Amino acid sequence: MKFRSVLLVAGAAVAIASPAAAQQKAAYGSWGVETKDMDPSVKPGDDFFAYAEGTWLKNHPIPADKTGAGYNYELPDEIELQVRKMVEQVSANPTTPIEHKIADAYNAWMDEGGIEARGLAPVQPYLARINAVKNRSQLVELMAQPGYAAPVRLGITADQDDPTRYTVRAGQVRLGLPTRDYYLLKGDKYDAIRAAYRQYIVDLGKLAGLSDPEGRADRIIALETKISKDQWTPERRRDPVATHNVMNRAQLMKLAPQFNWSETLRSIGLGSAKTVDVAETTAVTAAGKRIADVPLSTWKEYLTFRFLSDHANDLPKAFDDAHFGFYGHALNDVPEQQARWKRGIQMLDSSLGEAVGQLYVAKFWPPQTANLAQELVDDMHAAYAEKISNAAWMDERTRKAALAKLASFDPRIGHPVKWIDYSTLAVSPTDPLANAIATQEFQWKLDLKRFPHPVDRTLWEMTPQTVNAYYDPTMNQITVPAAILQPPFFDANADPAVNYAETGATTIGHEMGHGFDDEGRQFDAKGRLRDWWTPATAAKYKVKADMLAAQFDQYEPIPGVHIKGKLTLGENLADLGGMETAYAAYRRYVARHGEPPVIDGFTGDQRFFIAYAQAWQGKSREGAERQQLLSDPHSPEKYRVDGIVRNFDPWYKAFNVQPSDKLYLPPDQRVHVW
Ligand SMILES: [Zn+2]
Repeated sequence: MKFRSVLLVAGAAVAIASPAAAQQKAAYGSWGVETKDMDPSVKPGDDFFAYAEGTWLKNHPIPADKTGAGYNYELPDEIELQVRKMVEQVSANPTTPIEHKIADAYNAWMDEGGIEARGLAPVQPYLARINAVKNRSQLVELMAQPGYAAPVRLGITADQDDPTRYTVRAGQVRLGLPTRDYYLLKGDKYDAIRAAYRQYIVDLGKLAGLSDPEGRADRIIALETKISKDQWTPERRRDPVATHNVMNRAQLMKLAPQFNWSETLRSIGLGSAKTVDVAETTAVTAAGKRIADVPLSTWKEYLTFRFLSDHANDLPKAFDDAHFGFYGHALNDVPEQQARWKRGIQMLDSSLGEAVGQLYVAKFWPPQTANLAQELVDDMHAAYAEKISNAAWMDERTRKAALAKLASFDPRIGHPVKWIDYSTLAVSPTDPLANAIATQEFQWKLDLKRFPHPVDRTLWEMTPQTVNAYYDPTMNQITVPAAILQPPFFDANADPAVNYAETGATTIGHEMGHGFDDEGRQFDAKGRLRDWWTPATAAKYKVKADMLAAQFDQYEPIPGVHIKGKLTLGENLADLGGMETAYAAYRRYVARHGEPPVIDGFTGDQRFFIAYAQAWQGKSREGAERQQLLSDPHSPEKYRVDGIVRNFDPWYKAFNVQPSDKLYLPPDQRVHVW
């Protein structure tokens, strides 16, 4: 998915102050921002997003193979080109065992002629396992195996009651359409998407030579629609308390006996697990009922369709094209499929991601960048400490606990210290489908091997070549991959205002902000799901959060489709907290170094906000934006800018925003977290 869960950016005070750095030019514009992308005809107080990048918005078309455009697409494109070069070099002349694996996986994927020649032969053994299912016990057991679809999925994660140990989690999973809304909402647009989805199921059935493709499609959609009605909404799934229900074997059998928990756990190597933490309890119960009351033949049709659909990229072109026709074109409005090599690099990222990451880091990660980023992390940490210490709405007990949590944040920059060992992953030089399944089995075995041991805090959830960052509340870790620490987000030669706004606010401050958003605040300094807030302070926090959710509920990016204030609340709070704190960090910098000069007619504060807005430069196709609004916790870029700055007093002062301006909010309606 295109929307990173976190953004990182920025530049470090020390780097900027160093004479060597000062002599070099910023990568973007003269001070780190493309001022030519701005639209001076727009009043900043009316539409700050358009003011900061209106010319870019007008003149920059979305590439035919993309769901959107902007820095969050361009930088990953550049990295794919860099990785492609490395992978092609390795593939031409592999020497080490891991280079052979990379070469085999990439060559198997790129060999379209070979894929075409083998036709459906590679998929037959997997479909045969579905055909061989004779009863519901066998059905449930097969659903638990890597590669097959299921209404409920089991996984291994850190225990929210004791994050030093692993536990088993169970919960609902995505069906063929992105969320339940796509099955249930009324309106022409949704009818059209459902019709296209039905046609896609029919087409796959015909391509695979299955009997009664039309009837199958109707039965499959009827089954998914039933399941979707019982699934939890994306906003409800954000509630860590509601989705934390530790159950023993007897309780699991009472919850959903159809899943044969003991046999199922044993069949996937988890026979020793005494409890399972169930996320969406009622959805699991309902899915169990569907196992019992939907005909076995329909379930088998469903598994067959999903296997073909989920692995269509590894099958002959007609399957791949049909898959893109629905998921790319019909759902997201994208005209053209991405080039095969690009998807090959993305495939490697999910199968041998850390092996490729090791090559990437060796070539593209200057060691000094980690030091520069660490300076910024330290500065943001100090700013958060100051903010928490001064927050008038916090009582002393909560403040003490919040400072303890801040002190225990574990920032990780660049790449893992310990890399995944892929030596037991078997890679075929000819069969991409076998490689896809082997990858899932390998990952599961890795998880299983870790399960009985203490949680390994060195693991990364993202590869170093990913333009993104994340916060993990049970680990209390902020993880910033190497790829996002480069221009436009991180540039030692840029104006300090740019670096504080971009890496400071949208990446590091944003991620730290997740530790105190409506979800993250429910985890303590040790990552335990535990309420450490006094009721009085929690009530004051809730007033702020509710106000922000109500603001975002009002925004309607597509006619009839509003932002979901509760779904996006955590991201919006992280954005707001990141901005408030990064601005404070910037003012600390200014206090140390003196008031910054006016550049290109902009004060330091103005440059801070313009850079913040340009970090979110972006636009999306309507279908992709609809999917984002219905399912993604991140607000569209425009609202991550306009919806945030209008709550922040220094922005009003920097641009002399007045009550007659469209983004103006009276002071008592502005949300201040820190
Ligand atoms: Zn985030």
